[in-house]
Amino acid sequence: MPELPDVETVARRLRRTVAGRHITGVRVLSPATIHSPHPRRFIRELSGRTVHMVDRRGKYLLIRLSGARTLIVHLRMTGDFELVPHAAPVHPHTRVILRFGRADLRFTDQRRFGHMDLAPSEAEFGPVAELGLEPLGASFTPGRWRALLRGRRGTIKSLLLRQDLIAGIGNIYADEILWQARLHPARPAHRMRQAEVGRLYRSIRRVLRRAVTHLSRYGRPVGRFLEVRGERDIACPRCGHPIAVARIAGRTTYYCPNCQR
Ligand SMILES: [Zn+2]
Repeated sequence: MPELPDVETVARRLRRTVAGRHITGVRVLSPATIHSPHPRRFIRELSGRTVHMVDRRGKYLLIRLSGARTLIVHLRMTGDFELVPHAAPVHPHTRVILRFGRADLRFTDQRRFGHMDLAPSEAEFGPVAELGLEPLGASFTPGRWRALLRGRRGTIKSLLLRQDLIAGIGNIYADEILWQARLHPARPAHRMRQAEVGRLYRSIRRVLRRAVTHLSRYGRPVGRFLEVRGERDIACPRCGHPIAVARIAGRTTYYCPNCQR
């Protein structure tokens, strides 16, 4: 499931390859991928526009177009974009094709959970407008983070996953962030000490920043815990204690019971 670093990497790739280019044609192979407007209108409204910029908000891709339209894409489980020559054979998992002259930007999605919406802007698109703080953005400050956590009775893990509080973190990076911050995922947020809140803040920024850099440079994620997470009978990369697996915040959670308190 793509999380912030994965989506940011796709946004940067699209920015390099299609920003400034003109959409000369649109094909919708899977109408279910288009949530709004109706696929016929989607095709009509998208054709002929120019890609101004490609941004990201939380786990959403924002493809900003000429004429005050934004194509909002959620990759969900298996969504991805590939830029190929227009003549290249169409892969069976291709759902939508944006044609840029002699090149195609093809949206492939094996599991079909990914979706697209065309809206005037993200401010007028509820799911994006309601997102919480952007963890790599300038508005995510230690003070706002502290204020956000004040009085919250949920576990720290469940708060990290709440897109309306902080946007873009999913199950895997939440585990990495908590491991790096040496915090137990089931701790109630309001019981954290001041120093721990600061440690968590720094861990969020560091983990996501490093993941973005590594993914866009080397094409694979990075994280000491991430690299072992999910395997059987693993030892904590920091202290050697066996890693525990539990269901926390409704999600399979990996953590070290010895050095995460
Ligand atoms: Zn440990």
